[in-house]
Amino acid sequence: MWRRRGELKDSYDVVIVGGGSHGLAAAYYLAKEHGIGNVAVLEKSYIGSGAAGRNTTILRANYKTPEGARFYDASLKLYEGLGADLNFNLLFSQNGHLTLAHSDRAMFVMANRAEVNRINGIDSRLIQPDEIKRLAPAMQVDDPHAVYPIQGALYHPPGGVIRHDAVVWGLARGADRGGAELHPYTEVTGIERRNGSVEGVRTNRGTIKTKTVLNCTAGWSSIVSEMAGVELPITTHILQACVTEPLKPFLDVVIVSSQMHVYISQTDRGEVLMGAEIEPWTTYRMQGTLNFLQEVSRHALELFPQLERARILRSWAGLCDLSPDYSPILGRTEVEGFHVSSGWGTYGFKAAPIVGKTLAELVATGRTPDLIEPFALERFYEDRLVSELAAAAVSH
Ligand SMILES: Cc1cc2nc3c(=O)[nH]c(=O)nc-3n(C[C@H](O)[C@H](O)[C@H](O)COP(=O)(O)OP(=O)(O)OC[C@H]3O[C@@H](n4cnc5c(N)ncnc54)[C@H](O)[C@@H]3O)c2cc1C
Repeated sequence: MWRRRGELKDSYDVVIVGGGSHGLAAAYYLAKEHGIGNVAVLEKSYIGSGAAGRNTTILRANYKTPEGARFYDASLKLYEGLGADLNFNLLFSQNGHLTLAHSDRAMFVMANRAEVNRINGIDSRLIQPDEIKRLAPAMQVDDPHAVYPIQGALYHPPGGVIRHDAVVWGLARGADRGGAELHPYTEVTGIERRNGSVEGVRTNRGTIKTKTVLNCTAGWSSIVSEMAGVELPITTHILQACVTEPLKPFLDVVIVSSQMHVYISQTDRGEVLMGAEIEPWTTYRMQGTLNFLQEVSRHALELFPQLERARILRSWAGLCDLSPDYSPILGRTEVEGFHVSSGWGTYGFKAAPIVGKTLAELVATGRTPDLIEPFALERFYEDRLVSELAAAAVSH
């Protein structure tokens, strides 16, 4: 799929820290769109070992703010063509995404989101229980005793799921073919600076000279930024997920309920994939909890009581880098040549292609693309937050 790891060179035009979906996408677009192939991707473990290989693969664009909706829509459109671009089957199923509303207030918020989406050309609308039943016939929609009665849902037809490993492998192969070197098991331990500019990176395999570093380390991004003297307003939490044993297909849309803190889809293999909200404590320890399994099962059973006897096959956890407004932190920092892709919380996988494309443009041209300008780090100092609180979090 890609060349074996070689020796590190003394210098590169660009050093990308993090071999997840964002780092690999940046390497891929640097070569594809700007002919920049003298690039090293440094990954402290194996390629795709972080959240890129642990996420629950939901892609959608129905965000609440115009800035967010436009940005994620551009990413979804890139994903639609990415399999062909990479010549790699990414198993993308756009079967639709439903965010359930369980109260009058939630119906109002969904209607509002649908309006913002439609103004930005995104296919998204509020639907009633009858249509929900048609889209997800196996779900218990009109239970008179439901703790969380379903009043309606925000329906986003182009939303869906993709195979996350395939995205990682396809991008890694594409980046490699474009000339980028992939260096697994190469940990960045320091960033060298002089007069406010990046000079190089220190790793467990020696020091490399470079004038441009992209910090694409998601859950670890505040640690790596600190090495460059850049403080990010990020806290890192774990997010857990689990799957049941494979079952006969009964669900092809993604179901999300923010109020119940649960989301559910069924994989191509038939496993029922379930997830929840981040754990409230900060940690770098990717260890799951029994409490998560109890809570996620309880809520999943309220929607799908027929899963009562299904057994959990496996569960796992990954890191999430949460920003104060639930929007990413993207682009330049006060250190010349040190750029970040961070603040991805529970929703960054869907952004990988557009992050790669826009960061590559920033590096190649020196100009911040309009699409990512609202997500600059300065916004926290200039009081112009982009609050996605109502549309991110458990919605992924
Ligand atoms: C359980 C779970 C479910 C999720 N579900 C969804 C979803 O449905 N949809 C969605 O859009 N998003 C989802 N996310 C979020 C999404 O996975 C992340 O936001 C996204 O993957 C982050 O970008 P990345 O792939 O580049 O990060 P990562 O894959 O985490 O890449 C960062 C890499 O940096 C490496 N690294 C860290 N420090 C160093 C260092 N010092 N030197 C070298 N390398 C280093 C790490 O080892 C890691 O491989 C989910 C996350 C989790 C955990």
